[in-house]
Amino acid sequence: MRVARTLPELTQHCAALRAAHGRIDLVPTMGALHAGHRALVDTAVRSGAGVVVSVFVNPSQFGSTADFQGYPRDDAGDLAILEDAGCHLAWVPEVATMYPPDDATVIEVGGPALRWEGTHRPGHFRGMATVVAKLFGQVRPDLAYFGEKDWQQVQVVRRMVADLHLPPEIVAIPTVREPDGLALSSRNRLLTPEARRVAPLMHGLLREADQALAEGATASGPLAAALERLREAGFSPDYFALVDGETLEPLEGVRPGARLIAAASLGTVRLIDNIAAG
Ligand code: AMP
Repeated sequence: MRVARTLPELTQHCAALRAAHGRIDLVPTMGALHAGHRALVDTAVRSGAGVVVSVFVNPSQFGSTADFQGYPRDDAGDLAILEDAGCHLAWVPEVATMYPPDDATVIEVGGPALRWEGTHRPGHFRGMATVVAKLFGQVRPDLAYFGEKDWQQVQVVRRMVADLHLPPEIVAIPTVREPDGLALSSRNRLLTPEARRVAPLMHGLLREADQALAEGATASGPLAAALERLREAGFSPDYFALVDGETLEPLEGVRPGARLIAAASLGTVRLIDNIAAG
C-alpha cells in the first residue's frame, strides 16, 4: 500500500493506479477505522478497482473546536487496517493541503441537507460537501462508497453529485452493527461503559417503531413514544423521525423508500442511526 501525504504524491500514485486498474474507487473516511469502514473498503477491493481511502478529520464539518479536537484519531492503526484490507493508496492530507490560506470556496447544500442533522449541526453538511467535492477533484474517482449509517449524508452527496454533474457513481453500503444492534461508529470508543450498555436502545427503538408502523400505526404515536423512552434511558434526543429516504421530508406514515432516522446524545457522545421503514 502507498501512502500519499501531499498533492504531488497523490497525483503520481493515482496515475499509476489508473494505469494498472483502469478505474479508481474512493472511500472517504475520518479515520479511527472500524469494521464499518472496513465493509466499504472490502467492497471496493473486491470490485477490482484501484482503491484509494482518504483519512482526514475535516475541521469544517465540526460545530465546535472541542468536538474536532476530541474526535478519535489512530493514524498507525488506520494504516495497518487499510494495508490488511488490500487498499492500494491511503490519502492522508494535512489540513493546510485541504484548506490553503487563500481557500475561498464552499459548497452550499440545500434540499436533503436542510433538516435533522442540518438543523442540529449547523454548517455540518456544508463542510462535509465541501471536503467531499475537494476529494472528488483530487482523486477523480469513478465511484465513491459511503455508509448507510450516515443516511442523510448519502442523500446530500447524491444531490450534490447530480446538481454539479460530478462524475463519480455513489454507492451506499449497509450499516455494520455490533451484535447488540449498536451501529459501529468511531465515536463509540468515547462512550463510558454505562453509556455503551444503554446505547443499543436507539436501534431497538427504531425497530420497535418500524414494527408499530407495520401494524398500521400513524407515525406520531410511535415516534413520540420512542423519544420518551430515549429520555427515560438517559439520552438527550435531537430527533426520532419517519422520513422520505431521498428528500428527508417528514412523513405521516410508511410508504416505499421511507426511513426511520434518529439522533441522540449520551453524555458528550452523539449517536445517529437509521433503518428502512416498512
Ligand atoms: P466517518 O469516518 O465516520 O466519516 O465514516 C466514513 C464512511 O464510513 C462514511 O461513509 C460512513 O457512513 C461509513 N460508515 C461509518 N460507520 C459505518 C457503519 N457502522 N457501517 C457502514 N458504514 C459506516
